[in-house]
Amino acid sequence: MTRPRILSGMRPTGPLHLGHLTGALDNWVRLQEEYDCLYVVVDWHALTTDYADPSGIRANIVEVATDWLAAGLDPARSTLFIQSLVPEHAELHLMLSMVTPLSWLERVPTYKEVQQQLHERDLATYGFLGYPLLQSADIIIYKADAVPVGEDQAPHVEMTREVVRRFNNLYGPVFPEPKTILTATPRILGTDGRKMSKSYGNSVYLKDPPEVIRQKIRPMVTDPARKRRTDPGNPEVCPVFDLHKAFSPPETQAWAAEGCRTAGIGCLDCKGGLLDHLLRRLEEIHARRPEFAARPDTVWDILRAGSLRAREVARATMEEVRTAMQIIYPR
Ligand code: SF4
Repeated sequence: MTRPRILSGMRPTGPLHLGHLTGALDNWVRLQEEYDCLYVVVDWHALTTDYADPSGIRANIVEVATDWLAAGLDPARSTLFIQSLVPEHAELHLMLSMVTPLSWLERVPTYKEVQQQLHERDLATYGFLGYPLLQSADIIIYKADAVPVGEDQAPHVEMTREVVRRFNNLYGPVFPEPKTILTATPRILGTDGRKMSKSYGNSVYLKDPPEVIRQKIRPMVTDPARKRRTDPGNPEVCPVFDLHKAFSPPETQAWAAEGCRTAGIGCLDCKGGLLDHLLRRLEEIHARRPEFAARPDTVWDILRAGSLRAREVARATMEEVRTAMQIIYPR
């Protein structure tokens, strides 16, 4: 029996951090058991925001793919590939752009949000407005049955479903409507208490050696109410406790919460407890990563082979699309 297909992607923004692990990668690794998985490094999506300086994209593709492999994505079971090596995505994006009302793109919540977050860049571009539609093309060109996403990306899948309905109404039933697999995305903040992000310099990376991780976690911000060791704190407002929730077992979480509220433990004790579990959790990744990091050619080979495999599927879908839209001529 063929397994249902899912597709998900990441932008090549650099090495992956703990937020990527808990918000996506862990889940992607699990999904390999049940689904035919396609995981794509979306380099064209990186261009929508980084067009003025694309110099880091190539190196970042290898960083991301190396982290994927280290985390347990298995190229023998899943297709790992690069978006721009399957140019059919761009053709389908163009075809979909003919039938998609502008208002559907303008109302996507991330359109305004990201423009505000990156206000120093000029994102009043055609490509940036259209990127959710490029995502739709990424998904439906493989006729994916479902898309694993966090809550913030769910409106994109909803728009994809609308685009599919419109396309199928106009030209016949070519595409299935992809379902959303909502992924819990635990709150992971950076060491300074802001969103964990490469641009803030506050990230704990999967590739950081244990000693670097210790050096980053020890000075991490905590509940500001705990100025002295004797001040009781509130774990629910502490970013270290968010990490406990993601990486420590329930008994350690209970120990940290109780010790925090009663000032029974200090923040360094609490971080020590977290580090034990966090480093244990990263052991496998740390064991696997150097092997791939030392052989970037192997990583490119894996991505190229995956892209060829993906392209076969994409080509077949585009034949159907061109036929349905009557853009097919005698050869
Ligand atoms: S004891 Fe732990 S949870 Fe409480 S403020 Fe310190 S680091 Fe945060």
